Amino acid sequence: MMWTKEMKDTLRTFAGYENFSYKDIAKLMTAEYGEGFTKNSVIGMAKRIGIPRREPVIKPAIKPKEFTIYDLEWGMCKWPLGEPYDRPPFLYCGKTTGNTGRSWCPMHCKKAFSSSFSSSQAALALRPAR
Ligand SMILES: [Zn+2]
Repeated sequence: MMWTKEMKDTLRTFAGYENFSYKDIAKLMTAEYGEGFTKNSVIGMAKRIGIPRREPVIKPAIKPKEFTIYDLEWGMCKWPLGEPYDRPPFLYCGKTTGNTGRSWCPMHCKKAFSSSFSSSQAALALRPAR
């Protein structure tokens, strides 16, 4: 398969989004150009055009502070922690929601909406206009 300049540019763009895996990128490229892009062919081309290798992100494990329903005030995330079969007292995230007026912090908003807003839709929304 021949990689056009446009395909390489698209790969560069997708590789810039940290939350796209090379597997996702291969899928998106196939959807866009209708050719058989695989995870390995995408990684191979990324190497050839000098896209830096991705380092795995290691985040320190910090146990989040937990809040009961009595601790929650306006502007605190009301995302329930734990599993549905847990017994009371139920614990909540409690992080600030900022001035969004939403019930959840940015991370839990993302979690709540991620099922309806897939990474391929995000890619299309972020794609530069031709
Ligand atoms: Zn939260």
